[in-house]
Amino acid sequence: MEFKELSAGVKIPVIGVGTWGLGGKHSADFSNDESSIGAIKTAIDLGMTHIDTAEYYGAGHTEELVGQAIKSYERSNLFITTKVYKTHLHKSDLLFSLKQSLKRLSTDYVDLCLIHWPNPEVPIRETMTALEACVDDGYTKFIGVSNFSTSLLMEAQSYLKKYQIVANQAYYNLARVNKTYFNGLSVEELYSYCEANDIMLIAWSPLEEGKLAKPGFPVLDNMAKKYEKTQAQIALNWLVSHKKIVTIPKASTMNHLRENIGALGWKLNKDDFDQLKQAFA
Ligand code: NAP
Repeated sequence: MEFKELSAGVKIPVIGVGTWGLGGKHSADFSNDESSIGAIKTAIDLGMTHIDTAEYYGAGHTEELVGQAIKSYERSNLFITTKVYKTHLHKSDLLFSLKQSLKRLSTDYVDLCLIHWPNPEVPIRETMTALEACVDDGYTKFIGVSNFSTSLLMEAQSYLKKYQIVANQAYYNLARVNKTYFNGLSVEELYSYCEANDIMLIAWSPLEEGKLAKPGFPVLDNMAKKYEKTQAQIALNWLVSHKKIVTIPKASTMNHLRENIGALGWKLNKDDFDQLKQAFA
């Protein structure tokens, strides 16, 4: 596995594993628990030791599955990210939520706690102060945000007295090049800010929910042929070729997990990197 360094000096795997859908999406689904736990364990065995989850996923059941999966591993070898939902951003709610997440994850701390989505109804100052207290109390090692615009990210950081925002999780992949999302947020602009300010951009939906892994985008098909890689490997390699991007594809089969790891250990050349970006722009 390759690693990148967070501003706090800690290393994070370049490719981790997403868990949205394992154990349900908007509500709990208990029908595939065994295979979901198996998929997370396989991901860890392959080196994807960054596991991304959230209290929202499967109404908490996804965190329970992550908790089951990580039991037999040395905790300090894992990097667990969870997210507090936007309805829980007042101080007391946030603390309660994070403690519930820790219970479900069967761990004393997470490595990274993110605000899942901004909520204009809760003063961001209150949430950031509460997150700092969570670091002080040992519930999370690092603080981050998700789906924040550049200006909100800057505002959030301004309220932190002791710690830095180390990561912003954002929707980014080849299919999102030059597109804006949610309230006009430009990810290119966001990325430039993150790179300049030593904030890791954790790209979510890196495969556009599997669409980029399928043949049909001529430039991706041609690059796959040229590099003797799959379309998914080209799309993931393109993302992590950015200095300050790591990613978290969700995969629930052994073949997909293995394939995604094969996105590392080689490099797209600069012309091909640019050509991909231009073709999707
Ligand atoms: P994604 O990772 O872009 O795509 C997942 C889909 O791609 C699954 O259907 C998976 O199938 C398939 N897939 C994975 N590897 C493949 C491969 N090598 N070949 C073909 N298909 C492949 O989408 P995502 O799950 O939306 O995003 C990834 C993670 O980001 C989530 O799981 C979640 O942890 C996080 N996320 C965060 C936010 C946020 O607001 N912060 C929002 C969305 C997602 P199988 O399952 O069958 O393997």
